[in-house]
Amino acid sequence: MSTNHIKQTLSEIESELRAKIGALPEMQAKLMEQHDYSLCELIQVMTDVHLCEHPLFIKLMSLDAARCQLEIGLYGVCSDCESEIEPERLASNPLEQRCLSCSNHFSQQHRQELRLNH
Ligand SMILES: [Zn+2]
Repeated sequence: MSTNHIKQTLSEIESELRAKIGALPEMQAKLMEQHDYSLCELIQVMTDVHLCEHPLFIKLMSLDAARCQLEIGLYGVCSDCESEIEPERLASNPLEQRCLSCSNHFSQQHRQELRLNH
């Protein structure tokens, strides 16, 4: 995939995400005051209204990460082992941050943490 194509994909995800976030009742008052938040500001606002466990917030964070990676030429590189993420994984989720083996490892660890917390 070319950088331009990825940029295009990411901005489509961004406008979809912004629309969904804008529909959250917690966000409506904030967005009435100001509607042209940058991604960073949006992350801050969502944190302020305690939405940082929300699935849309988590998606927003990965979008922000993917955009930064694209800027520094590291898009599609696994955030754990720094090898290239499988193209089919990126095709199904352009915001993917981990390769298959690190992702399996991560979710296993996460499950263990959940078990420990309960
Ligand atoms: Zn990896």
